[in-house]
Amino acid sequence: MNLAGIAFPVAIAMVLAIILASLVRKRRSFSIPQGDEVYQDIQGKGKVLVSRSLGISGKPDMVMHKGQHIIPYEYKSTDAERPRDGHLYQMFAYFAILEENYPDASIAYGVLKYKNAAFKVHNTRENRLRLLAIIDEMRQIDSEPARNHDNRGKCFRCSFKEICRQSLIKQER
Ligand code: SF4
Repeated sequence: MNLAGIAFPVAIAMVLAIILASLVRKRRSFSIPQGDEVYQDIQGKGKVLVSRSLGISGKPDMVMHKGQHIIPYEYKSTDAERPRDGHLYQMFAYFAILEENYPDASIAYGVLKYKNAAFKVHNTRENRLRLLAIIDEMRQIDSEPARNHDNRGKCFRCSFKEICRQSLIKQER
């Protein structure tokens, strides 16, 4: 093989290495957990995942799989100094939904990524109780928390829209 014949594969290998390194850097900068991707809804094309036992649904931005563990990942395009309550409940909902959809895997935590920071949200018994309490509250006729927005899109993307009586969108069952 002549020099040109050797240089070409080396150049290809170098370009691939550069692309790979840039992808790894990008994943790190977005705090995406390591592992194999088993679900993604970044382009809004992921199927709706449902917890039939709780009557809630959701579409995490991404779900990674590593060993026996799966890790939900949610990206928010705003800054935050700490996780916002609504986003925490969204992640708690994902834990319950994913446990039903991936019964053989365990979920220790999820990653909530804001523009300026990333947070690990743990799948604890206490957080499950918080989720169950808010679901109960939404189902109570007299004690429902008042909706604090008029954003239909927010309701459309909400994991609790199936059970929320204040949802701004008509539910299709
Ligand atoms: S469905 Fe709408 S009003 Fe109800 S909890 Fe979700 S975002 Fe709030």
